[in-house]
Parts: sequence; structure tokens; C-alpha cells
Amino acid sequence: MGQTVFEPWNDPDAKPLIQFKNVTKRFGDFVAIDNQSFDIYEQEFFALLGPSGCGKTTMMRMLAGFETPTEGTILLGGQDIAPIPPNKRAVNMMFQSYALFPHLSIWENIAFGLKRDNMPKDKIDARVAEMLKLTRLEQFAKRKPHQCSGGQRQRVALARSLAKAPKLLLLDEPLGALDAKLRQDTQFELMDIQEKTGTTFVIVTHDQEEAMTVASRVAVMDHGKIIQADTPARIYEMPNSAYVADFIGDVTIISGTATPAGDGYDIAFAEGQPILHAKSDIQLAKAQSCHLAIRPEKVAITAEKPADAANALQGKILDIAYLGNLSTYHVELANGQVVKSQTANTRRLSRRSFTWEDEVWLSWTDTAGVLLKE
Ligand code: ATP
Repeated sequence: MGQTVFEPWNDPDAKPLIQFKNVTKRFGDFVAIDNQSFDIYEQEFFALLGPSGCGKTTMMRMLAGFETPTEGTILLGGQDIAPIPPNKRAVNMMFQSYALFPHLSIWENIAFGLKRDNMPKDKIDARVAEMLKLTRLEQFAKRKPHQCSGGQRQRVALARSLAKAPKLLLLDEPLGALDAKLRQDTQFELMDIQEKTGTTFVIVTHDQEEAMTVASRVAVMDHGKIIQADTPARIYEMPNSAYVADFIGDVTIISGTATPAGDGYDIAFAEGQPILHAKSDIQLAKAQSCHLAIRPEKVAITAEKPADAANALQGKILDIAYLGNLSTYHVELANGQVVKSQTANTRRLSRRSFTWEDEVWLSWTDTAGVLLKE
């Protein structure tokens, strides 16, 4: 995507590739997708993220044509896709199981859809060669799937899905079968291939980090609704709700009541605890319930009370999660609220300055937290 910022969703002239218009999907009385309207743009890498049963797969299956909306319309390139059968859509789906043909070679697997479409032989040869090159599988062309590693099979599936140059590729847990290390490498490969082909990718994943790594936008879903669809950075830094803040990454959520003060709010959250301060643009009435979401890496932990921190709270270390380069301290305040603080381990573990039961101070600036409506 080079130096230019790729944000077609902010461009009023950009034409969406996919448009959901008031789409509802019901199974009997059960509402799986609840009146959703949103756009996905050409060349986007769009990730659907959310807890099990929130409707991610249903969303994909409607795009692929395996399910039809109960209400509303889905447009692809401005055209209603409802009357177009799945095999006639410029959409392909790559399944987690890859569904490769075991008796066919890698070359034949990739060529399969092209042959079925009666593409001339020389064109098939050229296209398969191009796909093998793209996915770095040239030397595996003659092998059968069982003679390939998991990562190679994943690339074959990708090559086969992209061979017919679909406008849209749907990927259901594409890296689910790979182990953690290979999964990471393959994420970058996937992004690279997506960028090279310019195909729009919609991916379903359970793995938040994966979604945050590969996607141009992440849609966080809950109970058949997209709660927030935004860039990974904004999802992380500017979640629109306690649900999204809590779903993505580690966070402490302090619930209290807000009182307007200066260019933000004073937040009272527990008897005997100091008033917190947060700058914010959101509109809250006096004494309105609110949540303050604070990422652990924005909370400093010290033995002494910091001199002029906007927010400083005292507590006792309840738990320490040691993650090699990082430590996360779980600190319990007198009212029982637990606040997390994460620090980089620049010293060796033996010199770690805090341990269980230590009385410590936690502090953060008035811009460190995100203030959210209840
Ligand atoms: P997971 O992460 O577990 O795959 P998901 O977010 O993909 O979950 P969906 O598969 O889209 O969830 O399912 C959404 C809801 O719709 C679930 O509660 C599921 O039980 C229900 N559902 C899906 N397909 C059907 C069906 N054919 N008949 C009845 N209910 C269905």
C-alpha cells in the first residue's frame, strides 16, 4: 500500500465493492444477523472478529451464496447478488480444511476450476504458473497434497482460490491448521499476496492478534451486530464501547460516574478512592455512568507516590504475569478493583523490583484512558 494512506472508507467518492443494506438473517426465531448495513471496499483486507456464535460465519456464507438474507440486500459491485448462484459470483471461499483433492497434484489442484470453466490449455498453463510463482510453490507442482507440509497445503489452497481471479476471496480461519510460529510467518505472506493481487479479502478468525496484524479494518461483532469496524489502531486506541475495549487486547475497565471538568471529566468510582481525571470529547451528563478503559502499558507502577500524576492509586500486587520481555502486574485497590500495569523487562528477572503483596502506586495521564458511555 506504499506511502499513501489506504482508507477508502473515508473517501466519499470511493465505491464500495460490497454493500450490506439492512441485512437480517434469521434461523427460525433466532436472529443470527441483526439489521446490518456496512460497506467493504476494493482491495480491503477486512477481518470479522467476535466470540463464538456472534454470526461471523453466517456473514461469510451469505457473501458466498450458501445462505440468503431473510431481509435486506447484499450488493457486489453495485449488483444485488441474491439471484446469482454461488458458482457464478466473482467470489471464492477458502475453507479451513482447504478441501484439496488428494488424488490430484498441486498443479492439477490449482488448475481444477480453470479447466471446469473451459479455459484454453495455454491460458491454464500460464495462469497456474503465475499462481505457483505467487505462492512460491513452483518446485512442488508435481507433488500430491499429502507430500506437502501444512504451510505448503495452505498456500496451495490459496493459489487455487485465487486462480480464477475472484473479486472477493472469503477466508474462513485460513491459518487455523498451522502452528503458532508458521502461522505468524504465513500472516505476512497472506498480506503480501493480498497486496500483490489486489483482491479484496474478507477473513474470519478467532485470533485477535491475527486480525489486528493482517487486516486493513477489523469488524468486532457481538450477537449478530458489528459493534465497531475500524482500523486495528483505532480499534485498540479508540474503542467505541467497553465491549470492544475488553474484547481486543488487555485492558482495565473502571466503572464510575462522570462529572464534567475542564476539557474532560472527573470520575468517581469507589468510596474512599481518589477522583480520576480523563480528557475526552464524549458528551456525558453530570453523574452519568461511564467506563474508563485503560491499557496496562499506559499505567506506570512505582514504589513511591508519583509527584504530579493526573491519576494515582494505591494498591497491593495480587498477581504477576511474566511474559519474557514484559511483565503484567495485577494490582488490587482497597475497594477490590483490580488494575493492570505492564512494564518492559529491561532488567533481569532476579532484579525485578516488585513482588506479590507489595504495596505500590499506579499512575497514568489524563489522556491514557478512553472514556466510554455505559
Ligand atoms: P464460531 O466462531 O463458533 O464459528 P460464528 O460467529 O461463526 O461462530 P455463526 O456460525 O455465524 O457464528 O452462527 C451464528 C448463530 O447462528 C449461532 O448461534 C448458530 O447456532 C446460529 N446458526 C448458524 N447456522 C444455523 C442454522 N443453519 N440453523 C440454525 N441456527 C444456525
